[in-house]
Amino acid sequence: MRKYVIMGVQGSGKGTQSQLLAADLDLVHISVGDIFRWNVQNHTKMGAMVRRIMAAGELVGDDLVESVVRERLTQHDWNFGFIIDGFPRNRPQAEFFLESYDINGVIVLDLPDSEVRRRVLNRRVCPGCGINYNLIDSSPKVPGQCDSCGGELVTREDDTEGALAVRLRDYHEKTNPVIELFRRKEYVFMVDARPAPEVIQEQIRNCLGLPPCKHGAEVA
Ligand code: ADP
Ligand code: ZN
Repeated sequence: MRKYVIMGVQGSGKGTQSQLLAADLDLVHISVGDIFRWNVQNHTKMGAMVRRIMAAGELVGDDLVESVVRERLTQHDWNFGFIIDGFPRNRPQAEFFLESYDINGVIVLDLPDSEVRRRVLNRRVCPGCGINYNLIDSSPKVPGQCDSCGGELVTREDDTEGALAVRLRDYHEKTNPVIELFRRKEYVFMVDARPAPEVIQEQIRNCLGLPPCKHGAEVA
């Protein structure tokens, strides 16, 4: 059973790296941001509660976040383990988590803020299959259209200058101290998030003592 946490600033590739690792090791990928976005898209009661908070780039309240995580993990569909992305983001969340689960490793994707802005402000997402594109280094073949499903690409509501500034500030103020908290338990691995996705994936595997990717990391 493997239980991992992946952390890193906005646009550092947490989602991409989690999916690569999860697919290869049969882990369940739990993205708190994706769960909230699904609720917003599907107009649920929870979606209505979090929509504005997310669009402004602010953090959703700890009680709601913790209940989402608890509920997701009690489904126990993670026979081989899980990788959780976007949680914990502050000290109370980290304390809640550490009380309930033993973690095998924490991966921190490291990226300078200047690169974050370049990536996030040029990001487009396919609402159909969730693939991320970057208009600078991974633009779709047909402008505005998903290579995989043909869906119309959109900009995330929180990928604006204003919301990004709030998200980055929260990351440095609230999420960075979580890394220090985890560090006391000595299983934090810092990985440079600037190289190509498949290079980062191999680094992550090295750190975690895992063999190279079975399928060979293929990334859009
Ligand atoms: P990013 O890491 O790029 O900010 P995510 O997709 O992880 O994006 O999260 C999107 C939004 O969902 C956050 O800005 C926040 O509003 C909310 N959210 C996700 N995870 C948490 C969390 N652990 N605590 C509070 N809010 C969260
Ligand atoms: Zn698509």
